[in-house]
Amino acid sequence: MHIGILGTGMVGRILAVKLLERGQQVSMGTRDVAVTLAKTGPDGMGQPPLSEWLRQNSGVELGNFHQAAQAEVLINATNGTGSLAALEAAGEAALEGKILLDLANPLDFSRGMPPTLSVKDTDSLAEQIQRRFPALRVVKTLNTMNVSLMVDPASLEGGDHTAFVSGNDETAKSAVVSYLKAWFGWREDRIFDLGDLSTARGTEMLLPLWLRAFFKLGNVPFQFKLVY
Ligand code: NAP
Repeated sequence: MHIGILGTGMVGRILAVKLLERGQQVSMGTRDVAVTLAKTGPDGMGQPPLSEWLRQNSGVELGNFHQAAQAEVLINATNGTGSLAALEAAGEAALEGKILLDLANPLDFSRGMPPTLSVKDTDSLAEQIQRRFPALRVVKTLNTMNVSLMVDPASLEGGDHTAFVSGNDETAKSAVVSYLKAWFGWREDRIFDLGDLSTARGTEMLLPLWLRAFFKLGNVPFQFKLVY
């Protein structure tokens, strides 16, 4: 399957590597290919410049957001404050009828740490995306955990922790469940369907808690588990 990852950060890169390992075709989208490739130093997360990373991961095809959005299935791994702009650049026609796994969090770092949520309570980033692009089939998932666990859930407690899914389109949600299992090794019994896309308010609003746990635990892997 041809998968378009919108986003060149840590999440986009780690997902791309895993998807290539799984034999998928991967396109990665950025705002401006020339600008991105011209960067030389490490990014804010200490990652090597994308040009260097692409040399080590030559199976990934870099394009702008519009080019990457030509893929069959899309993943939103952009900064939450830029997600709508990234999808705008992808273009409505490219998005029509496609499934978007929305992994982004609406974190606003403009007032320093800890970040606040730029949308919450009565709305969510996932719903903003769905309203703006009604023909896109948005499924919120995997945003409540570190990226290393997204692609390798078994590395913690054998995968006995929870991935939430939210979405209005039941067929798209079922497809996403099958992708989580096939691409990343998620156990079906640990994937929890919260309901329609308004439930993404809940998973996006887990981030303030996730961040406090992260401040306390540092690099020790942790995850949410729904027990009932
Ligand atoms: P990030 O630094 O949050 O985002 C990088 C991407 O966002 C880049 O591709 C960048 O485009 C794009 N971007 C930034 N501002 C933009 C704007 N104004 N317009 C359009 N695009 C813009 O990367 P990340 O750390 O990999 O995180 C990606 C997403 O996953 C975030 O929403 C984050 O909250 C979420 N998430 C992360 C983790 C994790 O473990 N890190 C876990 C769960 C969820 P260029 O390529 O052009 O620079």
